Amino acid sequence: MLSVYTRHYPPCQRTDLHYRRCRCPKWVRGCLDGEGLIRRSAHTRNWSKAERLMRELERRAEFPGVIEVKEAVSAYLADQRARKLSPPTLTPMRALFEKRFLPWCEARQLVRLDAVRTPQLKEFRCSWDCNARTARRRHERLRSFFAFCVSNGWLTANPTDGLKKPVAPRTVPTDYFNRREFERILEATSEYEYCGRDCHDRADRLRTLVLLMRWSGLAIKDAVTLSRSRLDAQGALFLRRAKTGIAVYVPLPPVLVSALRQLPSSNSAYFFWSGAGYPHNAISSYQRSLRKLFRIADLRYPDGRPKPCRSHMFRDTFAVELLLAGVPIDQVSALLGHRSIKMTEKHYLPWVKARQKQLTASVRRAWFTEVRKLPPEPVDVEREEKEKWLAIA
Ligand SMILES: [Zn+2]
Repeated sequence: MLSVYTRHYPPCQRTDLHYRRCRCPKWVRGCLDGEGLIRRSAHTRNWSKAERLMRELERRAEFPGVIEVKEAVSAYLADQRARKLSPPTLTPMRALFEKRFLPWCEARQLVRLDAVRTPQLKEFRCSWDCNARTARRRHERLRSFFAFCVSNGWLTANPTDGLKKPVAPRTVPTDYFNRREFERILEATSEYEYCGRDCHDRADRLRTLVLLMRWSGLAIKDAVTLSRSRLDAQGALFLRRAKTGIAVYVPLPPVLVSALRQLPSSNSAYFFWSGAGYPHNAISSYQRSLRKLFRIADLRYPDGRPKPCRSHMFRDTFAVELLLAGVPIDQVSALLGHRSIKMTEKHYLPWVKARQKQLTASVRRAWFTEVRKLPPEPVDVEREEKEKWLAIA
């Protein structure tokens, strides 16, 4: 049994050890199973906090090696912070554990970590009201948390082992902007109005950003935080260093190079980013602007359905246009920075095939013009192939 007592210090005149309302330090003393007599400071001047510590010590003595859910969660989050993960990764993780998991455990009076088992986790998962993608991410986070607990020796098995993964959301087939659609987007930048901090230059910036992503294949996060030093005097953009150590450059059209060089910026080191604050804030700001731009452009399929547009489609446009122009897939893969050609094929196979069809059709036409002077067949292989692809997907 343990008890809390007060150690009075001047100017406090009291001598009663059980007096709890003064601001003198509180201590814990008594006898614990397996530990014998203990006397230690509770590191607080608050009686109820000291009592909480006392109960905690008693509980630990009763169930040695057992850890509370709360402790495990805070250890896990501290470990994730120590890994220097970026805020966009950490924030949803904290939200899941601090705002959902802990209150849920508390409501069910699950205090000990080993009390959280597969059935409880299934019940917890049923309480989520979110889409498949989010559910899948939360599942992965939960799994990683319990794996952390197992590796620390707090649990013998991972309770999420008995939990099936939420079904993967259907992946959207790659689509790109054809020339007419890209022109329309560029036109839309002049109709774009912005009433934010850099309202005067925002439309220019957006236009340059769109051109940059289209002609360099950079993803939005790399384009927004692109530093000026990456553009060399000849107008070639340094993309990355390949695994072999060789630098990969992409030449940019002169119009774009001069637009980039003339772009006013608050930080001379970057084209778009001010350099202040977190990069992800600047990126999401441009993403919002692009969504607005896509609304203005209002792209539609030939049958009148609205075309879903994403910023990543500029990178896809860069790749698809290169493939259709006959650039070999390994070169496109190097420009995109893919780890292997398989990755490039996975996303852009229809256009590789479309290119082969174009070549075959050209060769066949050449035979006939030679021998019989037949008029060439107009074949829109690109569209045909894409429709087939969309039908499969
Ligand atoms: Zn006192």
